[in-house]
Amino acid sequence: MSISRRTALRTSLVTGASGLLLAGSAVGTAAADPTPQATDADSALKLLKQGNRRWRNLEQHHPHEGAARRAEVAAGQSPFALIVACADSRVAPELVFDRGLGDLFTVRSAGQVLDESVLGSIVYGVEHLHIPLIVVVGHSSCGAVTAAVEAHETGQVPGGHVGYLVEQILPVVEATPDDGGDFVDACVSANALHIAELLRDDPELSGHVASGALRVVAARYELDTAKVNYLQ
Ligand SMILES: [Zn+2]
Repeated sequence: MSISRRTALRTSLVTGASGLLLAGSAVGTAAADPTPQATDADSALKLLKQGNRRWRNLEQHHPHEGAARRAEVAAGQSPFALIVACADSRVAPELVFDRGLGDLFTVRSAGQVLDESVLGSIVYGVEHLHIPLIVVVGHSSCGAVTAAVEAHETGQVPGGHVGYLVEQILPVVEATPDDGGDFVDACVSANALHIAELLRDDPELSGHVASGALRVVAARYELDTAKVNYLQ
């Protein structure tokens, strides 16, 4: 079984020669659909937490990057988690959760703002790919949330497409109490929680939540520690 040179190099740097065998055996065999690694929210969340622990400790496995996995997912996908994340370049889900090809269905927009395209993508992942877990991932120092806080403080909302983003986040900023601490940071958490709530209450998703087939959780990624903290 061949694995990519990059994976081999990274793995050998971290774990030595024995890691190569582990990486090789982890990519699985070709099939019509990859075997889901997690079919319920608890198992999916566990995989994400394990992956983020590897990431923040610089012990990544870089799973599912090799030739066998590429062939496997060419025939179909079975991602185990749906990540709704900010578009920020420092919050790449496959990196911060140490996952590979076909593992995560990711939908990203600045500030994780929902619109019809984002919602349509999410509903597709839940209804057609039967993903059991959605994680809304905000992050510290979010530029979109910062722009909404500035608009709140100055009364000046930017124009154009960026203005749309700011307008979507503004109600969260206005509803967040300013207790004298880091207000942008408080709004980052409030925004992730709000978006998770919107998804749970969405008419096309709420039935899946009620039946227990889907769980939606809010989280935030800390740029300084590389840790994903779960808010609920
Ligand atoms: Zn952001």
